[in-house]
Amino acid sequence: MAAEFVPVDPFDLVIFGGTGDLARRKLLPALYHRDQDGQFSDDSRIVAVSRQDMSDEQYAQWVREVLEEHLPDKELDNEVFSRFQSRLAHIQLDVDDEAGWKAFSERFDDNGRIRAFYLATAPSLFGKIANGVADAGLVDDRARIVLEKPVGHDYESAREINDAVGARFAESQIYRIDHYLGKETVQNLIALRFGNSLFEPVWGRQAVDNVQITVAESLGVDERFDFYEATGALRDMVQNHMLQLLCLAAMEPPASMNHDDVRNEKIKVLRSLKPITPQEVHKVTARGQYAAGMIDGKAVPAYGAANKKEQAPAEDAEAETFVAIKAEIDNWRWQGVPFYLRTGKRMARKSSQIVVEFKPVPHSIFGEEPLQPNRLVLRLQPEEGVEMSIMTKEPGPGGFRMRSLPLNLSFSQAFEVAYPDAYERLLMEVLRGNPALFMRRDEVEAGWQWIDRILESWRLEQVEAQEYMAGSWGPTDAFVLLDRDGRRWHDN
Ligand code: NAP
Repeated sequence: MAAEFVPVDPFDLVIFGGTGDLARRKLLPALYHRDQDGQFSDDSRIVAVSRQDMSDEQYAQWVREVLEEHLPDKELDNEVFSRFQSRLAHIQLDVDDEAGWKAFSERFDDNGRIRAFYLATAPSLFGKIANGVADAGLVDDRARIVLEKPVGHDYESAREINDAVGARFAESQIYRIDHYLGKETVQNLIALRFGNSLFEPVWGRQAVDNVQITVAESLGVDERFDFYEATGALRDMVQNHMLQLLCLAAMEPPASMNHDDVRNEKIKVLRSLKPITPQEVHKVTARGQYAAGMIDGKAVPAYGAANKKEQAPAEDAEAETFVAIKAEIDNWRWQGVPFYLRTGKRMARKSSQIVVEFKPVPHSIFGEEPLQPNRLVLRLQPEEGVEMSIMTKEPGPGGFRMRSLPLNLSFSQAFEVAYPDAYERLLMEVLRGNPALFMRRDEVEAGWQWIDRILESWRLEQVEAQEYMAGSWGPTDAFVLLDRDGRRWHDN
């Protein structure tokens, strides 16, 4: 069965930050692929905005080089690119410069097309850009605005951004990106849970022992040191990606796939998260920072070595590059079932997954044969897939030996399609006007409220990041955190 591609209505997609890293690595390759599959009408346009003095032709040439570098297998097709190139334009604008907005607005006519403004810039510019496009008369019922993460640095700053953008766009027109929600496996989690009767009776405290959500990267911080030092793993990864994954794994069945039905269930989970207080922060969180180590046989430097500022010794670096948390959801379904969250840089390997571990059988009839509890594993990286581990008998006449085997539930072979990049799906959802895979204002703010309590508890209790060796699975505290509960992390 081949994938179906439904064309989207004619659009002007305006990318603020169209020359930045995100545009280069993710947005432009994603748009090229969707154009390649014939999803765009002939008159749809992609307009990049940046402060650089670049003509449309120069921008198109730059995009060609970017695609040659970033498309998988360097697969640029000249015919497809010539169509893609005809859509591209570049507008020079410093969004801080009020005078520049007039010339900007003149590049658009009242053409009735969908207008999507994608804000791939620092969040400090979000309010200004929302004002700029609204004052330029470019916001009508068909307009929408996409906010890249992070929306804010804490609850207060998130509210300020939401207020500023919300003053010019209705909530239904605001698309807050969390690209994890665009991953096929994450959507498969919804399909598995709510498209099969098999899982519902075992999805809760009666049958689930614990849930583990891991987002591990083998890459380090390198040039992003300044950003990371001001942010840390808790804000960068947990507030958005990991809490969204937790919500989808834990939420009640929504009334429908309608965006607000799904988001109404997610917000209930966020509001049920037990706050982490200073009294227990040492027990239920682990904070780490990578030291030098080896990954794939190569020596890699410590986090602090990426600090390029003069007179800033490496040991002054403070941010956590690893965090583990025992999260508890205070509701009927999940009472007593811990959700262990773990994310880190420079870990042994890149691996992101949700593991739902079921309770062990109440009594084994197999004597000394070891039995492992069933596990449902949703793998997000490096390759997406879904597996259920089940106990089976090893074939052969030599006695009754039990083995745990993974049952492949991802069906990617049945569909014969490569999983598209999350940004391809999310960009199409923006253009189609479906905000189901994006975060609503209350979700973002509730997430920050929970995270702010942890940050405050760390501050009050002076919890410092504990060193872990690059190439390991995190600091000792992360292992102790599960050890205390008689459990262990699933590393693969
Ligand atoms: P970046 O490489 O620094 O790019 C920033 C872009 O914004 C550039 O195109 C820059 O163009 C433009 N810009 C900056 N100031 C401007 C101004 N005053 N007026 C007009 N344009 C301006 O940043 P990035 O890595 O692409 O990240 C962009 C946003 O996405 C950030 O919020 C980031 O946190 C988020 N994000 C990035 C990634 C990623 O993988 N990179 C992943 C997730 C989220 P000029 O300097 O040429 O004007």
